[in-house]
Amino acid sequence: MSFARPRLALGLTPKLLVASRSTALRSSLIAHRNISSSRCSHAEITDRPGRLEDPITVKSPPLGAGSLTAKDEPDKDIDPYRDGPGAIDKAVHLFFFTEIIRGMWIVLENFFRPPYTIMYPYEKGPLSPRFRGEHALRRYPSGEERCIACKLCEAICPAQAITIESEARQDGSRKTTKYDIDMTKCIYCGFCQEACPVDAIVETQNQEFSTETREELLYNKEKLLANGDRAEAEIAANLHSDHVYR
Ligand code: SF4
Ligand code: SF4
Repeated sequence: MSFARPRLALGLTPKLLVASRSTALRSSLIAHRNISSSRCSHAEITDRPGRLEDPITVKSPPLGAGSLTAKDEPDKDIDPYRDGPGAIDKAVHLFFFTEIIRGMWIVLENFFRPPYTIMYPYEKGPLSPRFRGEHALRRYPSGEERCIACKLCEAICPAQAITIESEARQDGSRKTTKYDIDMTKCIYCGFCQEACPVDAIVETQNQEFSTETREELLYNKEKLLANGDRAEAEIAANLHSDHVYR
């Protein structure tokens, strides 16, 4: 009371009040225009005003365009809790700890079930005959290399991981002098195996060939042939089980 009278006497308060009111009015109008001119999926501006003070007409959203509330359709009885649990149900669950009891029951059920886990690497899970693991080059039962150096596998390899060099044999057929696979580039797509006309390059079921150095993953022909010799029985059985689909 003691400060209001001197300000009124000096004539400051009315000017400040008018100035603050006009600033507030302008700010609210600008805010209203900014909000109304922003794109919104529920509102459509039908009349853009020429002046700042003009009202902006907003059309109501069509039926089904969004979630309806009781305000949109006052004559209809919309109850958002109709399909939910009742208050008594909620109280029963709350006071009798039913969720905790159900959780403990699930724990008890699983306690007596056989475990889903296995003791890897001492136990191993089943593998598909089509599993694509470490590569191998195969031989015929006579010991002759199957590969005829057609280079289809090299051509189809999307990672360009295969490098082949070849030469002609005395009988006119071809054989590889170099067959390298950069296993660090390989993406195990199996295209080389699919492209090979004589089932020479295959992917075995061996997935445990991690190394300590990168160089150990640059496979040459001798390494690939040794892989094939070691896993020939398994490779032949898998190819036989899969041959109806090839
Ligand atoms: S499995 Fe795929 S990426 Fe790997 S060598 Fe064969 S074709 Fe190339
Ligand atoms: S491994 Fe098969 S596809 Fe590749 S060069 Fe030898 S025969 Fe051709």
